[in-house]
Amino acid sequence: MTITPLPSFPSFDNSYARELDGPAFYAAARPEAAPAPRLLYLNQALADELGLPPLAAEQAAALFSGNSLPAGAQPIAQAYAGHQFGGFSPSLGDGRALLIGELIDREGRRRDLAFKGSGRTPFSRNGDGRAAVGPMLRELLIGEAMQALGVPTTRALAVVATGTTVRREQPLPGAVLTRVAASHLRVGTFQYFSARGDIDSLRRLLAYALARHDAELADAPVPALALLGAVARRQARLIAQWMNLGFIHGVMNTDNMTISGETIDYGPCAFMERYDPATRFSSIDQQGRYAYGNQPAIARWNLARLAEALLPTMVDPDGPEAEIEQAIAQVSEVIDAFPAWYETALREGQRLKLGAPDAALADAWLALLQRGGADFTQAWRALAEAREGNEAALHALFDDSTGLAAWLAHWQAACTATPAQLRAANPRLIPRNHRVEEALTAASEGGDMGPTEALLAALRQPFSADPALQRYAEPAPAALTAGYRTFCGT
Ligand code: AMP
Ligand code: MG
Repeated sequence: MTITPLPSFPSFDNSYARELDGPAFYAAARPEAAPAPRLLYLNQALADELGLPPLAAEQAAALFSGNSLPAGAQPIAQAYAGHQFGGFSPSLGDGRALLIGELIDREGRRRDLAFKGSGRTPFSRNGDGRAAVGPMLRELLIGEAMQALGVPTTRALAVVATGTTVRREQPLPGAVLTRVAASHLRVGTFQYFSARGDIDSLRRLLAYALARHDAELADAPVPALALLGAVARRQARLIAQWMNLGFIHGVMNTDNMTISGETIDYGPCAFMERYDPATRFSSIDQQGRYAYGNQPAIARWNLARLAEALLPTMVDPDGPEAEIEQAIAQVSEVIDAFPAWYETALREGQRLKLGAPDAALADAWLALLQRGGADFTQAWRALAEAREGNEAALHALFDDSTGLAAWLAHWQAACTATPAQLRAANPRLIPRNHRVEEALTAASEGGDMGPTEALLAALRQPFSADPALQRYAEPAPAALTAGYRTFCGT
């Protein structure tokens, strides 16, 4: 790895490494050399947002493979713990990721720049620290789709094929993803220090997180409570957005839940087609713990783990029992408020999608979708046409449309939205599983980025009615969806 002084590269301001210094928080590490870096994708709009200088493909490949870092970059692997599928791992950390540094973007926001797949770190355990082209492009496609849909998300800045072969079930081309995030602080970051009884570090982390994400709460009387409430509110809004889009994260471990409220770690995620709350795609989620309909409850469970982790900053665990009970009551109040915050956000989203402020109408609609086997995205979108007088298009989406005509009569009477407003609230284009697979296969097996670029272009305009994009609006054949499984790509 060389350090390249790139002219006009913005200066890094690495607050995490500076303020949370010391071996407790991170380990310095270096990206592994990439033998033949080739730029697959550069997000120019995001690069502009970050104030990066114009980069030739070769420069970008050297930079975003980690072969040559800009001056001021300080690669570190962050420590964190996490509950994975309910079981606690006290020490996870960045096993195949590196925080490169922090930049202040054009709008004054602090953004982490991080690599994923850049090789082994002190947290790698038995892993190779690598990532494959397919899963990194998948993170790009789904993340950018989420961004276009208005969902808080980490962003893909670049994907570089490294020229190495990654050994998975079969040999795969290796890649490094450069990710931009509001921060990489996770629920699991707090769990890490709490579980080790390192309360001093826990307090420092808490102060850092508040200053970074909730500066207005920095002087709150009980900082832990302030942070917990802010995170819970952000997560309530985030999960409500997921649910209203049919998004299934697939691996909502506590190390994959951010403090910032951004969606992170697009592994085995996928969008639901036919509406069924039991839908899950992940091959490793045998029990359906992270199924679509479980996501709000899992979010609350994860927040309860954050609350537990924060408790030692509020009260001495060996102190008087009454004080401990009071602290538990205080955090419990937040955790118990979460379902109502979530419900409010969900209903607000449904109100826009339906054009009517009627929860019972929304519930009846979802029941119809489920019984009728309708595609979730298409059915919502077809409401705009129904509003224009064409209810047949909506009927055609149902295998069994019993009750739909009666529901539509209620809805037409209650709806105050125009067709255009309904179209602006109900996307037509989501990352359809078969289109994503098609694109990843072409890129991974044939080195052809064409399908990925075309899909990305479509996903950047999710509300478009452009007939030329119709192939991206159609669900996969039902047989394909039934057997569809996603993998973590680790
Ligand atoms: P993830 O499933 O990507 O959220 O990762 C969970 C944990 O496993 C994190 O600590 C990762 O850093 C680690 N991990 C995942 N894949 C690898 C890999 N190929 N090599 C080393 N560590 C990994
Ligand atoms: Mg993760």
